[in-house]
Amino acid sequence: MSKDLLDYVKKGVQSLSPYEPGRPIDEIKREYGLSEVIKLASNENPFGPSPHVQQAIADAAGQIALYPDGNGFVLKNVLAAEHDIDPSRITLGNGSNDVLCLLSQVFLGPGTNAVMSRYGFAVYSLAANGLDAEMIVAEAQASDSDMPYGHDPETLASAVNDNTRIVFIANPNNPTGTWLDADAIEGLIQRIPSHVLVVLDEAYREYLDPALRPDSRSWLDRYPNLVITRTFSKAYALAGMRVGYALSSPAIADRVNRVRQPFNVNSVGMVAAAAALSDRDHLDKTLKHNADELPRMQRELEALGCTALPSQTNFQIFDVGRHCRPVFQGLLEQGIIVRPMDGYGLPNQLRATIGTTEENNRLLAALPKALEKTA
Ligand SMILES: *Cc1c(COP(=O)(O)O)cnc(C)c1O
Repeated sequence: MSKDLLDYVKKGVQSLSPYEPGRPIDEIKREYGLSEVIKLASNENPFGPSPHVQQAIADAAGQIALYPDGNGFVLKNVLAAEHDIDPSRITLGNGSNDVLCLLSQVFLGPGTNAVMSRYGFAVYSLAANGLDAEMIVAEAQASDSDMPYGHDPETLASAVNDNTRIVFIANPNNPTGTWLDADAIEGLIQRIPSHVLVVLDEAYREYLDPALRPDSRSWLDRYPNLVITRTFSKAYALAGMRVGYALSSPAIADRVNRVRQPFNVNSVGMVAAAAALSDRDHLDKTLKHNADELPRMQRELEALGCTALPSQTNFQIFDVGRHCRPVFQGLLEQGIIVRPMDGYGLPNQLRATIGTTEENNRLLAALPKALEKTA
């Protein structure tokens, strides 16, 4: 009997659905014959990168015939100074997504599992299932609680069993925008056995109200099983450059380094990231704008009859009171790309990035029409 190649695809891979990214602007222009399209789908920084970054990228372009520094010496040293940590405790990644996958590769395989919250970041289960590990999903907080769909430290801690190797916690979380306070996170870390890796994904950390921003760096010294991941893709406006990193114990960094591609982070990206870190004004401008626009969007969305959930990020999910897909479609037709949340088990929710004031106004102006058409 002849054998079929595809029967040998690993079970975990067979069961995966590919990650559904935000639709690209050019694709929507082509598909709908539109000349003006805005993307509020992937939590990108609407101001773009700082002028310093653009200059640094131009300067670095001449170097791209050479392989990057595989050890990322310069960027690691900049980050080491920023976080008061030894460079041996930093792992650079091709986006923090890369770091999440590398950590999974080190700790997960058949017979093991990872734990995440329902409505947690989709990449965690892709990483785990792709390695034939199981993903245990802990129930989130109720939709009528103070923090609808947010992480529940209780269910997360009690989901851990003998085969658990990683607990993934995003704070704040994507796609919900919800957060836990510092004591709740530290309490949760304390309840996870020390032989289980805790991955605290702080992709949106910068957007947290400073009063809610945990001193997570200090936890690293108390909890050797903790890894913190950060990214340049969101507040630092470098999503297209693909640079993220992890802070951990030197031992964990060493194990990750064994499976890492030798040149996983490109040379231009590393230069851009270092330049982005040095432009504090651009970051402040980004955060100030978001702090003004997020509550305005919440009010305006509510005024249009939607329900806006609490958020401490640069995006907002909102309940449109019907299935989100036709509304998503109605916005696309008007040149506005947001993100439908049905794939996350939130069929009535859309997620929109906080854009420039003008982009936000365009969304607010287009939404009534999209809602009307689908009423
Ligand atoms: C965007 C995001 C990331 C970061 O992705 P990069 O690979 O760094 O671009 C990580 N975690 C969450 C929860 C995110 O939303």
